[in-house]
Amino acid sequence: MRYPALKILAQGLTGNKRWTPVWREPEPKAEYDIVIVGGAGHGLATAYYLAREFGVTNVAVVEKGWLGSGNIGRNTTIIRSNYLLEGNQPFYEFSLRLW
Ligand SMILES: Cc1cc2nc3c(=O)[nH]c(=O)nc-3n(C[C@H](O)[C@H](O)[C@H](O)COP(=O)(O)OP(=O)(O)OC[C@H]3O[C@@H](n4cnc5c(N)ncnc54)[C@H](O)[C@@H]3O)c2cc1C
Repeated sequence: MRYPALKILAQGLTGNKRWTPVWREPEPKAEYDIVIVGGAGHGLATAYYLAREFGVTNVAVVEKGWLGSGNIGRNTTIIRSNYLLEGNQPFYEFSLRLW
């Protein structure tokens, strides 16, 4: 789907009620190798890197809202690794390099 500026403006002015879903609604399989709860930044990145780095593709990402509907969809989008907890800093640095 494309998102031309005029369409976004028209949708915004009319309550965003005429968007068509851009995701599928497949029947869940009987089993998965991995189930990830939460389809936001961490959940989707985990699924992506499982496939890319380890070839693990029998993965379900379950999301109770819409993709990115958690904090990831409302944050200030500053890309940084300067959070406060010292023990977490290597994790943030590694994440920054992945990004
Ligand atoms: C106001 C604000 C500003 C921020 N600014 C920044 C910033 O500038 N830079 C930065 O790096 N970070 C920022 N953050 C932090 C950043 O947004 C979070 O660290 C990040 O969104 C966490 O991602 P996540 O995937 O773990 O969780 P979330 O983005 O919170 O997503 C969790 C997802 O799990 C789903 N879910 C929850 N429970 C269930 C369930 N039982 N079943 C199915 N689905 C479920 C939710 O619907 C949601 O989609 C900010 C956060 C906020 C709130």
